[in-house]
Amino acid sequence: MNVYDTERMVDVMAHEGYSVTDTPDDADLVVLNTCHIREKAAEKVYSDIGRLRVQKEKRAKKDGKQSILAVGGCVAQAEGAEIQKRAPVVDMVFGPQTYHRLPEMTKEADAIKQAGERPRILDTDLSVSEKFESLSKKGVSNKKTAFLTVQEGCDKFCTYCVVPYTRGGEFSRAFEDVMQDAMKLNDAGVLEVTLLGQNVNAYHGMSKAGEEWSLARMIRHLADTTDFERIRYTTSHPQDMTDELIAVHGEIEQCMPYLHLPVQAGSDKIVKAMNRHHTIASYMKIIEDVRKARPDIALSGDFIVGFPGETDADFQETMKVVRDVNYAQAYSFMYSERPGTPAADWEDQVEEHVKAERLAELQDELNKQQRAFNDASVGKTMPVLLERIGKEATHLVGRSPYMQAVYVDVKDVNVVDRVFGQMVDMKIESAGPRSLKGELVLK
Ligand code: SAH
Ligand code: SF4
Repeated sequence: MNVYDTERMVDVMAHEGYSVTDTPDDADLVVLNTCHIREKAAEKVYSDIGRLRVQKEKRAKKDGKQSILAVGGCVAQAEGAEIQKRAPVVDMVFGPQTYHRLPEMTKEADAIKQAGERPRILDTDLSVSEKFESLSKKGVSNKKTAFLTVQEGCDKFCTYCVVPYTRGGEFSRAFEDVMQDAMKLNDAGVLEVTLLGQNVNAYHGMSKAGEEWSLARMIRHLADTTDFERIRYTTSHPQDMTDELIAVHGEIEQCMPYLHLPVQAGSDKIVKAMNRHHTIASYMKIIEDVRKARPDIALSGDFIVGFPGETDADFQETMKVVRDVNYAQAYSFMYSERPGTPAADWEDQVEEHVKAERLAELQDELNKQQRAFNDASVGKTMPVLLERIGKEATHLVGRSPYMQAVYVDVKDVNVVDRVFGQMVDMKIESAGPRSLKGELVLK
């Protein structure tokens, strides 16, 4: 979601004559787009600000150029006033729902600087619909893969999570608004679209005709009305994993065989304390049904270890779920106390070293599973959308249908011109822990 937001910030500022630069030294405007989900991510912001302050002062001294330093995203939303207090060098602070106003904020900051004063702009409003209305007027980039936000925010209030507070309550964009953006991407030649939302499968956008659209119906409609060859969606909640959506995985060719479905923990006691609204049995039933609908589906998930009250026995239940499901890849984290969330105040916090040991054990198993999934791809031929240039000019990187990164050395720059940005068949030659290497199967 932050990548999507950053791309939209680039879009709105492009209309003001700004373009992206590789180094902050050249930048008239530096935006830190921040994440508040875990403490580590949030703390990083302050060290980044410190580094950028030095650069900003150097630039002012050397070239007499004034640059604007802005902090956006969820840390800004949650700690805006504190950032302004702790880091007076920051000129603008804005949340995830107000970045469409970047042009106005930047102009205001410039004017204040011209007048010889220090800007202290703070804009952390949470009204989502105005943002999308404003962003829809802007253009799209020329990439072959794109994100498309259909839903934002969350009303589920898992007891560890800041999202409902920083992104705000659940919001589904209207059907026609989503379709308008989808057609823009389609016309720009996008081949792979990822529908985005903090709880994307809770999507329930209304149409002008007063009909409610589910995510499943939206995917079917996109498959019918666009040239998208690949449709993905992320992130899903088990509670909203309907039979209708599971059926889409079996019936719609464009719906990719990959599902990110976080379970967080393997014991009913812990998922209940997390307020997850599902049980381990209901999660396992979904996995079984999805695999029935699409036997080759790659499964992914999120895990939190060391949630308050988690015993060794509870953790072993997480390990059991992991072994039973057999993931193609997954994300796993130590529980991080987040200010303002219920679990942060509970007394039965788990010691850091215990969390670290559990994480190591879990990641060891998840890494083995990912490696086995990758190894099983060797010898197969699969379509890969070559979307990035790698380390060398002839190295191209793309994704398999199962979200694995696949890399190829085409050895000849003329071949790069022919296949870059295309969906090509690749024969997988070898597998690594995090990626595959293949060769082109040219027709
Ligand atoms: N809406 C999605 C996840 C959004 S947050 C869902 O419900 O599955 C992304 C992931 O960050 C979560 O799935 C969770 O695993 C992790 N996370 C969120 N809050 C956390 C915290 N306080 N400590 C550690 N991990 C956390
Ligand atoms: Fe956070 Fe996801 Fe739970 Fe919402 S459902 S509170 S985003 S973890």
